Amino acid sequence: MLSLRSKKNEVEIRVVIHKLTLPHLNDVYDFVFGDFFQPYSKKSISGIERLIFIFMEMEGRAGDNIKEVGITHTQAKPYLEELFSKIKNAPFEIRLYHFPLCALSPKLWSFIWRTLPEREITFLPQCQTCSFQKHCLGIHKDYLKYIGDKEFQPIKEQIKIKETNNFYHPIAKAI
Ligand code: SF4
Repeated sequence: MLSLRSKKNEVEIRVVIHKLTLPHLNDVYDFVFGDFFQPYSKKSISGIERLIFIFMEMEGRAGDNIKEVGITHTQAKPYLEELFSKIKNAPFEIRLYHFPLCALSPKLWSFIWRTLPEREITFLPQCQTCSFQKHCLGIHKDYLKYIGDKEFQPIKEQIKIKETNNFYHPIAKAI
């Protein structure tokens, strides 16, 4: 894979977070850091551009096997908070896909990208009172079907953010 990398061909690794991978996020990071990243040199380009952690979509086979693989955002949160506490200076970009903002603490918001099509997500009535709805991906409809809406609470605190001009990556920094 890395042999095909060039200035025009970027390489990224995507890891789906579900019940089986959740306890191993730290190990995944260490593996990627150790085996897939080598610094740029004048002679060669190597390593990956980015590592992406994707919260599972509860559809198709995942929906059929929800007891075996299903997780909640509440279950995932401590693992992600622990992981990101150790990777402040990662040598590649790290992104989070499929996370509503209230599922993670503000210090992780700058990693969150809006990646699901509009037809697959929704907002709850309480989202209308959330201070950050315009920056939020929303909630995957299938998550509500299998898990429910109890975890999603409007954010009322005054949290300072630095916005981007990118719809898909709306928050550059949260303070
Ligand atoms: S309450 Fe709704 S709009 Fe606010 S962060 Fe949560 S899901 Fe997003």
